[in-house]
Amino acid sequence: MQCPVDNETLVMPERSGVEIDYCPKCRGVWLDRGELDKIMERSAT
Ligand SMILES: [Zn+2]
Repeated sequence: MQCPVDNETLVMPERSGVEIDYCPKCRGVWLDRGELDKIMERSAT
Protein backbone atom coordinates (compact mmCIF):
# COMPACT_ATOMS: atom_id res chain seq x y z
CA MET A 1 0.00 0.00 0.00
CA GLN A 2 1.16 3.51 -0.75
CA CYS A 3 0.54 6.86 0.92
CA PRO A 4 -2.30 8.76 -0.76
CA VAL A 5 -0.51 12.03 -0.02
CA ASP A 6 3.00 11.48 -1.36
CA ASN A 7 3.00 7.92 -2.76
CA GLU A 8 5.57 6.80 -0.24
CA THR A 9 5.44 3.08 0.55
CA LEU A 10 3.69 2.60 3.86
CA VAL A 11 5.15 0.51 6.64
CA MET A 12 3.02 -1.52 9.03
CA PRO A 13 4.35 -1.61 12.58
CA GLU A 14 1.98 -3.88 14.44
CA ARG A 15 0.56 -2.42 17.63
CA SER A 16 -1.53 -4.63 19.92
CA GLY A 17 -2.49 -6.92 17.11
CA VAL A 18 -3.66 -4.12 14.86
CA GLU A 19 -1.84 -3.40 11.64
CA ILE A 20 -1.50 0.32 11.15
CA ASP A 21 -0.35 1.65 7.79
CA TYR A 22 2.21 4.30 8.60
CA CYS A 23 3.93 6.70 6.22
CA PRO A 24 7.53 7.42 7.30
CA LYS A 25 7.69 10.43 4.99
CA CYS A 26 4.73 12.60 6.03
CA ARG A 27 4.08 10.66 9.25
CA GLY A 28 0.52 10.01 8.20
CA VAL A 29 -1.32 7.03 9.62
CA TRP A 30 -3.86 5.17 7.55
CA LEU A 31 -6.32 2.66 8.84
CA ASP A 32 -8.78 0.29 7.27
CA ARG A 33 -12.30 0.41 8.66
CA GLY A 34 -11.87 -2.94 10.39
CA GLU A 35 -8.60 -1.85 11.94
CA LEU A 36 -10.20 1.24 13.40
CA ASP A 37 -12.96 -0.89 14.91
CA LYS A 38 -10.34 -3.07 16.62
CA ILE A 39 -8.67 -0.02 18.16
CA MET A 40 -12.00 1.37 19.35
CA GLU A 41 -12.89 -1.93 20.98
CA ARG A 42 -9.54 -2.14 22.75
CA SER A 43 -9.65 1.42 24.02
CA ALA A 44 -13.20 0.92 25.32
CA THR A 45 -12.27 -1.97 27.54
ZN1 LIG B 1 2.89 10.17 3.21
